[in-house]
Amino acid sequence: MKTARIPASSQAFPIGKIVCLARNYAEHARELGNETPAAPVLFMKPASSVIGDGETVRIPGYSQECHYEVELAVLIGRECRAAGADRALEYVAGYGAAIDMTLRDVQNGLKAKGLPWEIAKGFDTACPLSDFVPASEVVDPHNLRLLLSVNGEKRQDGCSSDMINRVPEIVAYISRIFTLYPGDVILTGTPAGVGRVVAGDVMEAEIEGVARLTVYVQ
Ligand code: MG
Repeated sequence: MKTARIPASSQAFPIGKIVCLARNYAEHARELGNETPAAPVLFMKPASSVIGDGETVRIPGYSQECHYEVELAVLIGRECRAAGADRALEYVAGYGAAIDMTLRDVQNGLKAKGLPWEIAKGFDTACPLSDFVPASEVVDPHNLRLLLSVNGEKRQDGCSSDMINRVPEIVAYISRIFTLYPGDVILTGTPAGVGRVVAGDVMEAEIEGVARLTVYVQ
């Protein structure tokens, strides 16, 4: 079973569902030719897609174009149903770094046919995830620098201040649709700069001051 750990508090949660936002940074929506959505665009990854720091993304044979997307990950610590945005941060146990690995060619094919994205987003190893820091140690989740490099070369450098939907609104919105449980994780979308990785690459993701993640590609 995959676990989400908060080492500073010795807490560990079995990972439940992973709810992800698409197009939550306007510049990233533009770089893929998408419109900025009126309401959050949601999809999910299964817990089986999670790998940890130092592990390896294995690109499935049905894709020729695997992309990285660095994202701020939010760990839920208390059961949360239909929370108001004013109380939503009370349900957040911690923050971490994730890479939303995406088979862009497969996703584009599915989008063109109006089909769901799971095989492009939820395959084994598609969710590299760091340990979490306690929410109490993150002064402002909307003032965090998100960085991703490939083989030491910087590819993404964004700030969570550019999120379209912010963490309280995201938790509130999702919890009106899916009850959130301790161990559920939310990926809050990626800033601009997404791109391809190939076998042999090394990715380093960082939420500055919060978490780092080194992941290999095969
Ligand atoms: Mg993403």
